[in-house]
Amino acid sequence: MQAKLAKLGLHTAHDLLLHLPLRYQDETRLYPIAHAPLGQAVLVEGEITHANVQYRPRRTLVCQVEDGSGAMTLRFLNFYPSQIKQLAPGKRVRVFGEMRHGFLGMEMVHPQYRMVGAEEPVAEALTPVYPTTAGLSQAALRKLVQAALDACDLADTLPDDVLRPLGLPGFAESIAYLHQPPPDAPLELLAERTHPAWRRLKFDELLAQQLSMHQHYRRRRAQSAAAMPARHALTRALLESLPFPLTRAQQRVVKELAGDLARPHPMQRLLQGDVGSGKTVVAALAALQAIENGFQAAIMAPTEILAEQHFIKLSAWLAPLGLNVVWLAASLPKKEKQAALEAAAEGTAQLAVGTHALFQEQVVFNNLGLAVIDEQHRFGVHQRLALRQKGAGTGQEPHQLMMSATPIPRTLSMSYYADLDVSVIDERPPGRTPVVTKLVGDSRRDEVVARVREACLKGRQAYWVCPLIEESEKLQLQTAMETFETLSATFPELQVGLVHGRLHARDKAATMAAFKAGEIQLLVATTVIEVGVDVPNASLMVIEHAERFGLSQLHQLRGRVGRGAAQSACILLYQTPVSETARARLKIIYENSDGFEIARQDLLLRGPGEFLGARQSGVPLLKIADIEQDQDLLAAARIAAERLIADRPDVAEGHLRRWLGRADEFLKV
Ligand code: ADP
Ligand code: MG
Repeated sequence: MQAKLAKLGLHTAHDLLLHLPLRYQDETRLYPIAHAPLGQAVLVEGEITHANVQYRPRRTLVCQVEDGSGAMTLRFLNFYPSQIKQLAPGKRVRVFGEMRHGFLGMEMVHPQYRMVGAEEPVAEALTPVYPTTAGLSQAALRKLVQAALDACDLADTLPDDVLRPLGLPGFAESIAYLHQPPPDAPLELLAERTHPAWRRLKFDELLAQQLSMHQHYRRRRAQSAAAMPARHALTRALLESLPFPLTRAQQRVVKELAGDLARPHPMQRLLQGDVGSGKTVVAALAALQAIENGFQAAIMAPTEILAEQHFIKLSAWLAPLGLNVVWLAASLPKKEKQAALEAAAEGTAQLAVGTHALFQEQVVFNNLGLAVIDEQHRFGVHQRLALRQKGAGTGQEPHQLMMSATPIPRTLSMSYYADLDVSVIDERPPGRTPVVTKLVGDSRRDEVVARVREACLKGRQAYWVCPLIEESEKLQLQTAMETFETLSATFPELQVGLVHGRLHARDKAATMAAFKAGEIQLLVATTVIEVGVDVPNASLMVIEHAERFGLSQLHQLRGRVGRGAAQSACILLYQTPVSETARARLKIIYENSDGFEIARQDLLLRGPGEFLGARQSGVPLLKIADIEQDQDLLAAARIAAERLIADRPDVAEGHLRRWLGRADEFLKV
């Protein structure tokens, strides 16, 4: 039983209180058999007059039931021997099921039933039907919930002056209503979850989430971290060596980070900036500020390709300043890995760049002051926490900078990321021409081929992104190989390369280097190039079966071109005929170049759970409220949270205490 409840996420009596019904059965009205409405679930009762087992066409237990008004048949296809005894002639049975016109008159197939005596009262409330799991009956769940209702303290945690302006009913009242609604309850509002009782619980949950974020925020403020004030020793040197000035947006963010790092509390900042907005150099400047204060910094990226690109770029920037940058990846040869590990542990490496290999156990830092996590949404919560704990050597938390090119829409950042500080780079480096996006049906493939040839012969370079096959990595790989072979044959005059996720890291790196050096003109790739790849001379991208990709993914891919001064294009090849939804999605990517707008529309299309991604799935989302449907409540909860913390900390405390078991899980970072 315990295990089954745990499967439903039910651990405490309070959890049971909030295990709300999916729907209700009306067992409050007993119909005369002759007058029971057809086609809907109804409650009837009568005396069993016949019962026998028939064998044709299937083994079936058939009972005749009569009340004063008429007779009906009950049929059970799967039944236990004990049921034959139970449903014997002369007994009274109360059944709940859908009444139909059968071959022999009124009948119900597989109704719920229970043996009753004469004159037994009917239910006073609607009967709840709960979400459940195999082996846990509705009856058992109802009993447990009833026990929880009896045992729990349902006193309200919120005062009238918070509830009344929002038109929200009391807590006890709402809970009781949802578990046992009166016979005349508006079922539609309950199903839509817009009934005031629902809204009250949603508000409570959202408020608890907001309060808990405030609490975490304050707790973080109470933690100590090394203060690393800007000394402008190394940072200035890097700025002077760069071939470009920072954009105004970059300068602003650099200042925000410098201010955070100078404080003796761990920074937890999310840096959002569209693809190509120049986040890397900002991260480098933050790292240098840590380093000029005698600390180490680490930068973690989600793929080896990206980590290695960072490594190359950052080494080029930092080595001339006399700094040692090491690279850590799972695929590194043993000896090199050992050397990198030692450099990190002894502190001779000021900066470590790597993949998730960075936070594995054997990695120890001498004094990690700053952890940067690029494309943070691609990491799980635990991985991010693990890197943060690498600062333990210093007895203090390292500062943390998370970066993302997938902008988090406002509704999400207001809830799930509310305890983070957020910086935004909302400006692109100058001199870039916007990428022209084209939608091309598969029948016009020849034109696309001609265009790729022309561009490459002119000295430009191109990407050809293989169709995404989410269901099977094997098939994906096979498709990539086939695409590579076909294109190599199509373009005998070009050097064609291939990168995919299964390639050995060394081969991957060699191919990328050759592409960067211009030795390869056409790069066939899977989505491994989705993030971070930076080859300014590549000005054309073809994406096959674009209709299969997610919008953010397409946007990220498209961001791989348009990095140089040349006019760039992204051709989205789609398979015809294309479905209605696929068309709507392609239209969004065709019409928008702003990542935030694309993300917003993506969220509308897909809903927050999927938007946050499978990697985040270890973190429970809100269980009762829905941040899209309940935006008004979210906004109200935010205001209420701030007011309560300021004026009524005892109330805030009490509310959190009721919800804390869950509230603690709300946090993503
Ligand atoms: P992202 O934000 O997608 O990580 P990157 O940091 O990779 O973007 O930057 C994209 C390209 O723009 C890089 O080649 C980088 O060196 C260059 N870049 C960054 N900032 C500027 C700037 N202010 N002016 C010109 N180029 C810049
Ligand atoms: Mg980047």
